[in-house]
Formats: sequence, structure tokens, C-alpha cells
Amino acid sequence: MKRFFIRQPTETVVLDGNEHTHLSRVLRLKPRDEVILCCGDGYDYRYRIERVDKNSSVLTQLDRVRNLCEPRVHMTVFSALMKGDKPELAAQKLTELGVNEIVLMTTKYAVPQNSMTRRERVERTCMEAAKQCGRAGYPKVDLADFSELPERLRGFDAVIFPYEKATEYSLSAYLSRLDGANIRTVAVVVGAEGGFADEEAETLIGTGVTPVTLGKRILRAETANIVVAALVMNALGEYA
Ligand code: SAH
Repeated sequence: MKRFFIRQPTETVVLDGNEHTHLSRVLRLKPRDEVILCCGDGYDYRYRIERVDKNSSVLTQLDRVRNLCEPRVHMTVFSALMKGDKPELAAQKLTELGVNEIVLMTTKYAVPQNSMTRRERVERTCMEAAKQCGRAGYPKVDLADFSELPERLRGFDAVIFPYEKATEYSLSAYLSRLDGANIRTVAVVVGAEGGFADEEAETLIGTGVTPVTLGKRILRAETANIVVAALVMNALGEYA
């Protein structure tokens, strides 16, 4: 059944804007068709379409069931801004992998761009990906400058920092030492195409974060985002 995102699962819901366009013009749904509406509270709400007008559609709630697709672990990926449509590519895959929050990060070697436009595009991508893979919510998309990281990383149960110049610890050695049962919140920090500046790595290391290597080959930034999120989710038992 087709899925849409709303703010409040009230008895009657009026869909407008993009969600209405999607329902009426793209999917060509009609009165009496049923859809799932979600608001990020962990439930799937089943609705029946009552009316489809030019600019809005009206739906009434039938029932709700718990959505079983949401992960137990809350993962935030701090992803340095990449070129072209790479942020959207990474966001689509991160959504499928179960990530809860994506923070588009400005770093010394990140690609300068209009962050607000990018944030909106990435959020839209997350919403579409979440619909496709059946999630009850889509990742929140936020912006941050690298200088905010020490503050923003405080409070996470684990921080994973793949760094291209790391040699001492591998990601897999690091993950095998984590006590998954006690980890509810995890942050992943990944560089852009240009990687991290030495002083940025030092700043993170200074806050107690351990840099880890992903092995012999340097991965493209978007690949690193996806692979690290998947391996960490797996190590924490999300794909069991
Ligand atoms: N331009 C850099 C590579 C950046 S790769 C260089 O030539 O060294 C982009 C990001 O992906 C990195 O900042 C890091 O977070 C991650 N990454 C890619 N390959 C990695 C590896 N082998 N080990 C650790 N991190 C890696």
C-alpha cells in the first residue's frame, strides 16, 4: 500500500502540496482507495481516501498498526558536504539502512554550496526513500559546521570516525570491542572527497574519539558513508 508522511494522524486528514500531487497525479489514487499515513511515531495509520480535489485530498482514518521497520539503535551520520548529487545518493541509502538523522557538515575540504537548498533536497530524498522501504519516519536532516562537532557529539553512546590517515585501529576491530547491548545512540562522522584536515582530525581525537581505518583502499566519500553505516548497524544487531 502507498505511504505518505503527515504531521498529525487526526481522524480526518487533508493532504495538500507535494503529497497531494503525488497521491492524485503521480499515483492517480481515487476515492475509496486505501493508503498508509505516517508521522514518525512508530505507527502505520491506514486511511481511506474520501475525496480527491484539484489542490487537496481528504482522507479518514481506519486503524493503526505498529511499524516494525524502525531500528532499535538511533544513528546520526555527520556527512561532510560532497559534490553534485552525492549527498542525495548517500541519503537515499542511509535511509534504507535505518539511519535516523543526517547532519550535512561543512568542513575545511567539503564542497562549498548553498546548504539550505541542499538540506531541502536531501530531506525530500530521505522522505521518498523512507516511503519506498516502508519506514514509519524519515531521517531528520540538519546542517552543522565542523566547529560544532565536539559539542554535538557529546552524549552519544558511541562515535565512529573513519579517517583516511588512521592506521592503529580498524573499523572491524573497533566494532568487535563495542558492547552492542548498551548502545542506543551512535554517531558516524565521514569526510568529503577531500577528506579531513589534520587539525580537524586532531580536534576529534582531542575529544576522545578514536579514528579508524577502513582498510587498504580509500573509498569514495559516498561509499564510505554507506559502508560504515551498514557495518555499524550490523555490528549492533540491526540486521539479525
Ligand atoms: N582525499 C582523501 C580521501 C577522502 S575519502 C585522501 O586521498 O586521502 C572520504 C572520506 O571517506 C574520508 O574522509 C573518510 O571519512 C572515509 N574513508 C574513505 N576511505 C577510508 C579508509 N580507507 N579508511 C578510513 N576512512 C576512509
